[in-house]
Amino acid sequence: MKINNGIYMLEISVNMMGKPSIINPTVIWDNDSVILIDTGFPGQLPKIREAIEKEGVPFNKLNMVILTHQDIDHVGSISDILKELPNKVKILAHEEEKPFITGEKQPVKLAQLESSLDYLPENMKTVYEKLKAGFQNSRVNVDNTLTDGEELPFCGGITVIHTPGHTPGHICLYLKHWKILIAGDILRVEGGLLIPAVESTNFDRDSNIKSMEKLMKYDIENVICYHGGLYKGNANNDIAELTKNLQKYKI
Ligand SMILES: [Zn+2]
Repeated sequence: MKINNGIYMLEISVNMMGKPSIINPTVIWDNDSVILIDTGFPGQLPKIREAIEKEGVPFNKLNMVILTHQDIDHVGSISDILKELPNKVKILAHEEEKPFITGEKQPVKLAQLESSLDYLPENMKTVYEKLKAGFQNSRVNVDNTLTDGEELPFCGGITVIHTPGHTPGHICLYLKHWKILIAGDILRVEGGLLIPAVESTNFDRDSNIKSMEKLMKYDIENVICYHGGLYKGNANNDIAELTKNLQKYKI
């Protein structure tokens, strides 16, 4: 889906624990660069490639991938992309997320499952094994680490916002020229409403609230959510309202 000149939100179908769903990587494209933000689950490269080319963007020109965070639905096809376009694609992620992506540290979701492995039902043990294999195949080097507030000089300027909480090095990307927030997993859309991430999927609740407060400093009109897609509307107000609620119910 074209969001603006050079900005496309992909719609990739996926089966999430038996439920059909859509995930939304973003492509930003200008004369010099094709940037993909997040890479889907393992095995989804053919779908991603097809979705990129359907928008008229040449997949072979892909030269950069920005990973908003370490979760398997975001890093899953990264190693396949590197195999498909060897020595062409640079990988960027926040400095705190890098060791989880390279495999130096165990990914947060995998560690959580592992800590309760003895008590998990059989079907969850299968999920754990699948997740472990998925992460093992998705380990890649991170070429450039990102820091909070950094401005990437591509496609009219991309601001990195460090928004820890969902994971330690989670980032959002802000396209100030268009007032668009690429939210990763800090926000999602459900039933037409902008809502926060499911609390049980967050690594650290307090830092997640601080990250929401940080988003309030940006002038945001539209939000691209990895889960739920495009939110068009008065995003500034909604983010402020959601943050207030999270603060209120803080235990
Ligand atoms: Zn996700």
